[in-house]
Amino acid sequence: MEMTGPFDLVVVPRVQALPAIRRDLLGLDRLELRQALIDVGIPEKQAKMRVTQIWQWIYHRGVTDFQLMLNIAKDVRLTLSEHFIIGRPEVVTAQISEDGTRKWLLRTVDGNDYEMVFIPDADRGTLCVSSQIGCTLACRFCYTGTMKLVRNLTPDEIVGQIMLARDALGEWPSATEGRLLTNIVMMGMGEPLYNFDNVKKALHILMDEEGIQMSRRRITLSTSGVVPLMTKAGYEIGVNLAVSLHAVRKDIRDEIVPLNKKYGIEELLQACADYPTANNARRITFEYVMLKNKNDSDADAHELVRLIKKYKIPGKVNLIPFNPWPGSAYECSDWGRIETFSDIIFQSGISAPIRTPRGRDIMAACGQLKSASEKISVAEIARRQAAKEAVQL
Ligand code: SAH
Ligand code: SF4
Repeated sequence: MEMTGPFDLVVVPRVQALPAIRRDLLGLDRLELRQALIDVGIPEKQAKMRVTQIWQWIYHRGVTDFQLMLNIAKDVRLTLSEHFIIGRPEVVTAQISEDGTRKWLLRTVDGNDYEMVFIPDADRGTLCVSSQIGCTLACRFCYTGTMKLVRNLTPDEIVGQIMLARDALGEWPSATEGRLLTNIVMMGMGEPLYNFDNVKKALHILMDEEGIQMSRRRITLSTSGVVPLMTKAGYEIGVNLAVSLHAVRKDIRDEIVPLNKKYGIEELLQACADYPTANNARRITFEYVMLKNKNDSDADAHELVRLIKKYKIPGKVNLIPFNPWPGSAYECSDWGRIETFSDIIFQSGISAPIRTPRGRDIMAACGQLKSASEKISVAEIARRQAAKEAVQL
């Protein structure tokens, strides 16, 4: 994609032309790490202790050089550096918006590009993390949805985004107080529940008590509504849930979120009601993109309230002004309309703040992420969307 705005190139160790024998330790869970150490000749009796030491260096201190792991004997450090690396995604470009939002274009070892966004606020800093390169779901209002799925991101590529952001923010060693990066949202490119195992593994590494120690209350997973995996996500990952609802009428949701043809609105709301960790203190967020004359009427707002109440969901609504992108087919609702929509929901006792668009000038806002891993024309976008929908029917 065309890059605009000032550039802020972050210098990080690059993972280029890796010798095949040097394996990346980032993204391995403790069991895999233990096995990896044993496989290169570290005695089994030592392995448990070495895992604890290495884990702390990687995830508590952010160290990428084995020679700095001073509580590990020199000969073991040498063995480690002969066989392993502690990688980071390659930074292709890094940009800063006039509102302080930062966007990185990252490249995988096999040459695919994906994006990550950091949104600083007065009281928090949120990292918007990608789970896939592209997406299979083709939501009509989303730029990522115009890409085909290139591939799932691996645990090291997901964890690597947080590691890289912390490198750039100078957040090592990991402290629990005074952090700049306080929240993680799985709201970058891709549908996290369609990359379940890798997302689960990565989030458990990030929540580990001896590492980065992200609280599950500060991580939010956003899904477009993959109903069969939502309860499983609640039990096995346990982070906050956001659901991209976007419409309350079947015909409209079918059009803008084609997955609705597979898992309908009522089914989706039932899955929200069943979500294991949802309670009044940890509400489910319903994301609702405001599209002019499409889903933004008073009747839509009333129906949204009725549905949330019908299913007794401890929920709040996040109204997202539509962020345009080249070739997008929709317009953002007028500001007055969004305010009226929000008021109707608030008056029913449900919170419905309007999300301030961030980073629009560098195409970093919700739904504006796309990489050039596959560049296609607008005509091709329409053709592929039609083809994908035909498959989903
Ligand atoms: N695939 C997941 C998470 C990534 S999208 C999902 O769909 O939930 C993160 C949020 O941005 C979703 O709510 C998505 O619907 C919304 N979004 C997508 N395109 C947008 C656009 N152009 N303007 C505003 N929000 C958008
Ligand atoms: Fe995929 Fe989410 Fe975009 Fe839909 S909104 S196309 S699910 S990334």
